[in-house]
Amino acid sequence: MIKNGFNIKTIEDEKIIGKKIIVRVDYNVTLTDKLTIADDARIRQSLPTINYLLKNQNKLILLSHLDRPEKRDPKYSLKIVQKYLQTFFPNHKVKLIDDFLNEEDQKQITSQKDNEILIFENIRFYKKEKANDAGFAQKLASFAQIYVNDAFGVSHRNDTSVVGISKFLPAYAGLLLKKEIEMISGILKKPKKPFVAIIGGAKISNKINLLSKLLDLADYLLIGGGLANTFLCAQGLEIGKSFCEYDEVEEAKKLLFLAAAKNTAVILPKDVVISDSKNTENSGQVKKINEISKIGSILDIGPETQAAFGAIINKAKTIVWNGPMGYFENPAFKRGTDFLYYAITHNQEAVSIVGGGETLAAISKKEYLDKISHISTGGGAMLEFIEKGTLPGIEVLKK
Ligand code: ADP
Ligand code: MG
Repeated sequence: MIKNGFNIKTIEDEKIIGKKIIVRVDYNVTLTDKLTIADDARIRQSLPTINYLLKNQNKLILLSHLDRPEKRDPKYSLKIVQKYLQTFFPNHKVKLIDDFLNEEDQKQITSQKDNEILIFENIRFYKKEKANDAGFAQKLASFAQIYVNDAFGVSHRNDTSVVGISKFLPAYAGLLLKKEIEMISGILKKPKKPFVAIIGGAKISNKINLLSKLLDLADYLLIGGGLANTFLCAQGLEIGKSFCEYDEVEEAKKLLFLAAAKNTAVILPKDVVISDSKNTENSGQVKKINEISKIGSILDIGPETQAAFGAIINKAKTIVWNGPMGYFENPAFKRGTDFLYYAITHNQEAVSIVGGGETLAAISKKEYLDKISHISTGGGAMLEFIEKGTLPGIEVLKK
């Protein structure tokens, strides 16, 4: 049973032996431009659940999405994940099922051998995955006797493989989902103050609601990354060719206004690193935010901003962070993100939660991992869980 008031059964609460089980995992891994896995944390963190279920002679079918394809597209195949997963299971054959709706493929599913782990091809190749479609859910459920959700990172989505399917099978939480729920809700039950929330990444559109909720919890909201550009724009600053969601400028304005009313300090970049190209090898130019030319793009926070963020992080007692501070994929624009890892891990008085696919892919020193209270596999899911205290994919597991 999950602690902290969640009435949810986990796979450890009952004897699950010799069953056929669908496990929803989150293998939405970050790939490099050479199409290798940039960060395998999500795969590694799924291993305890898989190993536990295999030990009890269960046969597993893994379901996951990768990125956001809207139809079948070889670019988003889980082949790369299947190959990588195979390296962890020398005594099993990890088999990719190309299309579970195809009759030939269905034969492979029904004749699954004891030493086989099946993984269905990218579940977002099917339009009905995003529609939480009952027929599609039932079809998926027909291949198994039990459903396990171990995909915290996607539990904020009303998708068929996260929500719909649980109506048709006995449903349990996996060990990773359990850990995420217990850790995050435990830390946030009575967060110590000052509470500092740090939000970066590219898009503001999918984080705007969460930002307004974070204002209730946090004493400071530090905003960096591409997301900050929309706020700079809302303040009437020239941001040149920087990434910006112009449709969200009004929302950003409202948020700044709301922050003042709630007495939460929103701290935006004071200086930034700009360049005329994302892919340059030179390290860009540091500019104050009122000195940006019409041709420049903001690609990282500057040193003065690092110092300002660092000073606030240093006196925090609770820290939550999602979203890189810049276009870290190019090392030239990774300094702001690196600095945040440095600052957070050097405040050992605070409890810290860091999450998000790209945020974790940006970790440059392994020793940082041990100095963060909880590394969450979720980005958007983590923020929404903090905001609401639960998620749709968690609610459907309640009995
Ligand atoms: P996470 O996956 O950790 O939740 P997001 O998906 O929200 O994070 O955002 C990560 C992306 O944001 C990265 O690919 C990064 O390059 C991009 N990004 C951050 N800052 C900038 C910027 N200034 N300009 C363009 N892209 C940015
Ligand atoms: Mg991301």
